Order: sequence, then C-alpha cells, then structure tokens
Amino acid sequence: MTFSDFVMNNELPIRLGFFFGIFGMMALWEIIAPRRSLQTSKAVRWANNLGLVFFNSFVVRLLFPAAAVGVAVFASEQGWGLFNYIEAPFWAAVLASVLIMDFFIWLQHVMVHAVPVLWRLHRVHHADMDFDVTTGARFHTLEIMLSMLIKFAVILLLGPPVLAVVLFEVVLNATAMFNHGNVHLPETLDRFLRLIVVTPDMHRVHHSVEDDETNSNFGFNLPWWDRLFGTYRAQPRAGHEAMSIGIRTFREDKWCSWLPGMLAIPFVGKVQDYAINRRQWGPADEQ
Ligand SMILES: [Zn+2]
Ligand SMILES: [Zn+2]
Repeated sequence: MTFSDFVMNNELPIRLGFFFGIFGMMALWEIIAPRRSLQTSKAVRWANNLGLVFFNSFVVRLLFPAAAVGVAVFASEQGWGLFNYIEAPFWAAVLASVLIMDFFIWLQHVMVHAVPVLWRLHRVHHADMDFDVTTGARFHTLEIMLSMLIKFAVILLLGPPVLAVVLFEVVLNATAMFNHGNVHLPETLDRFLRLIVVTPDMHRVHHSVEDDETNSNFGFNLPWWDRLFGTYRAQPRAGHEAMSIGIRTFREDKWCSWLPGMLAIPFVGKVQDYAINRRQWGPADEQ
C-alpha cells in the first residue's frame, strides 16, 4: 500500500487524530500562557461552541458522507478537473492544489464578509466575545454547508490529487485552531512565523469590533493572500489586551455564547435594511 492509499483509506481517523491532538495542545497552551483574560464564562462558551462543532460534524457526515475526499476520488475517476487533464509531476500537483484551495478559502472568507446575506451566517463566527481555540471551529451549520459545496466545486474544477485534499483539510484544521488560540507568542517568533502562517495575533485583528479591522486579515492558513491583495493589517489599534472582540451590536450571552442564540443569529433583523457599510448591524438596531 502506498502512502497516498494509506492516507485515503484512513482519512477520518487521521483527521480526528489531528483535531483532538492539536485541540488538546492548544487548550493546554491557553492555560499556561494566555494572551488575554477571557471576558465571559469559559465553561458556557466551550460547552456551546463545542456543541455546535459536534452538531455540524453530525450534519455534514449525514448530508455529505463522501466528503471532500470522495469528491476528489470521483473527479479523478471521471478525469475531471485541471490536474486530471494535464500531466503534472505529482509533487507539483499536490503543492499547487493546496495553494489554490487555500486561495479559494480566503476568497470565500472575503465573500462572506462582503455579501450581506452571507455575512448573516458568518456573524456566528464573529459574535464570539472571546477568542480562543473553540472560536476556530465555531461556524453556523449553513455556513459549513456552503463551505462544503464551494470546496466540492473547486475540487471538481481543479482535480487535485486525493493526498492534497486530505493534507489541505488537516493543515487548515490545525492552523485554524492555532491562529484562534488565546496564546502568547514572543514578538520576534510571531514576526517570523507570520511570514509563512497566520498567527493568533494576526487573526485576532480580524475579530475586532472595529469595521476596518474586521475587514482585514481574511487568511486562515497562508498569510500571503492578505499581503498580496492589500487586506493585511499588522496589529489592532487598541492593542491585543485592550481591543474589543466580537460584533458591536451582539453583546449578550444569549446570542453570543448559547447555542440556540448562535443558530438564530442569521435570522435576526431584515435583509433589506442591511447595507454593506453597516456590517455590524444587529438586534440592538431594531429598537
Ligand atoms: Zn471573518
Ligand atoms: Zn476567525
């Protein structure tokens, strides 16, 4: 059995192993060297954020049992997609596929901020009033489903090697947990690391209540797209300890920390009242 076959046949245990391993490491790191003190109850947030993660995993497995790997296998059997069409060296196809998939995740993230109805879904990720490893996996179920469909479309067009898809999912999952970590990194290490990967200090800027800061640092994995497209912002104006995290108009625990409120966030307020320059519009504007 080749390495690729092994990875393909054991995709789920590999992904779960990395998820729990890195989650545990980050959780421990957050206790040993936290970056900020938490503003709300950690027990409530963790129970509800992780509740949403497990609910989403269940729904995704039910709706898309083949997952991204299944779509990549299907594309290769059908000969669909760029890399099933051109003759590229295996390593080049893996490298290029990972890069291109990361770019599309970045582009999708810009899109869910720019399109009002999609921002409604993405607000669930941003409404978290604290920023830690559980924030990294907290997305509305409908946004997760949208992400899956976009990923499937990209895979069908790209025809990436199956190994690239598994690699990408594992790496993206790991970096998302890393860069949402409420962890302290020495400044020089952060400066060096953020040349190759999005660091917690870099992504925290994106979780600021300030509109211009929210609309920067869209990367989850590679930091280059933000630098290339002009959305990079090095630090929050107020500093990492003093900055406010979340959405200005969602400040109550019932919306931000409890699962029923989080699932309801996309349906709060009227679509037609919403303008792109009022991104942070929420229930407080309804009075
Ligand atoms: Zn965002
Ligand atoms: Zn985030």
